[in-house]
Amino acid sequence: MQRIHLDHNATTPLRPEARAEFLAVLDALGGNPSSVHASGRAARAVLDRARERVAAALDVHEDEIVFTSGGTEAIHLGVLGALLPAARERGLLTTAVEHAAGLGAAETIERSGRPVERLGVDREGRLDLAVAIERARRPAVGLVSIQAANNEVGNLHPVGEVGHALRDRPNRALLHTDAVQALGRVPVRLREWKVDLASFSAHKVGGPLGVGILYRRKGVSLAPLLRGGGQEGGLRPGTENVPAIAAAAVALELAVREGPEQAVRWRGLARELWRQLLASCPDVQLNGPPIDADDRLPNTVNVMLPGLDGRTLVARLDLEGVEVSAGSACASGSLEPSHVLLAMGRAREEARAALRLSFGRTTRGEDVHNAVEILGRIRQEPR
Ligand code: PLP
Repeated sequence: MQRIHLDHNATTPLRPEARAEFLAVLDALGGNPSSVHASGRAARAVLDRARERVAAALDVHEDEIVFTSGGTEAIHLGVLGALLPAARERGLLTTAVEHAAGLGAAETIERSGRPVERLGVDREGRLDLAVAIERARRPAVGLVSIQAANNEVGNLHPVGEVGHALRDRPNRALLHTDAVQALGRVPVRLREWKVDLASFSAHKVGGPLGVGILYRRKGVSLAPLLRGGGQEGGLRPGTENVPAIAAAAVALELAVREGPEQAVRWRGLARELWRQLLASCPDVQLNGPPIDADDRLPNTVNVMLPGLDGRTLVARLDLEGVEVSAGSACASGSLEPSHVLLAMGRAREEARAALRLSFGRTTRGEDVHNAVEILGRIRQEPR
């Protein structure tokens, strides 16, 4: 059976170019990049080159890139590393709709005894910018952490506007953004947005699983979470996974380059998916901003089919070869409805009916068409 993968926000397949780089580096290198001998220096050169490529693609300096084990670790290093050093006694301002990794970091901050405030969203998943700015400017806030794009419903949040509102203020809070889902789908402008810290994950852009990137603006002091060797500028000890990092750099570079073209294509697919869904299931509801809104991810469509349980539907669609998710992949095993949809004011039953479809580089119009047809057929089945 030809499977239809419409779950690219969970992970998107490894790009052939990244796979080729991974295998080439794996075959060619046997050294530890921290060793001073020739094998070590060869590994170091590959790591340096990967860092340069990532920095160039993000339009930042090589020294501002820290490789981690994934987006989750990057977020923890950014949030905890910026707030927990003794010098920063202030608290965290974040949102109620962060990915589980951001929620987890916020919980750790809370357990350390510091104040945490979580900004709510409206029924379309939008933050109130005026409230966000007013709160972010409060002296008790040491770090603001706002995701650039929501992984479940696809809202794009006004990170740049918050960055500008904080800029040049004396003793201002630092600004971190979880840009894991934004990268390669919409432009991520770290300098223009005035962010101090930003997190990324390679497997969301066609790189291997298990590589994350933290951007740390020069001059921002961070405490490492782990203690050990001096790798990654002393911020992230542990021998770097050189082949995976090299592959991640290739994927990230291509994803950023191809992003604008793909976004146009995905927008067309999203519109088409929504049109076909409305035709086959007229009671379907869209979660997040309207399908043509500018503040939504071009590749993500989250819908509710009243009366159907999202997780049951995911399992049923899987049997038919269609891969989607009910909310985020990380929460799929949980019986709790999505915290994002609850924050948007949906009732628990409504939130349980959600289905997320997300596109990638390999998604074609026929995938969308076939998925809607199968969904319509399942909808007709007696229950
Ligand atoms: N942040 C967002 C918005 C995500 O969608 C994800 C992955 O689902 C993560 C963070 C975590 O990234 P990783 O899987 O690399 O730990």
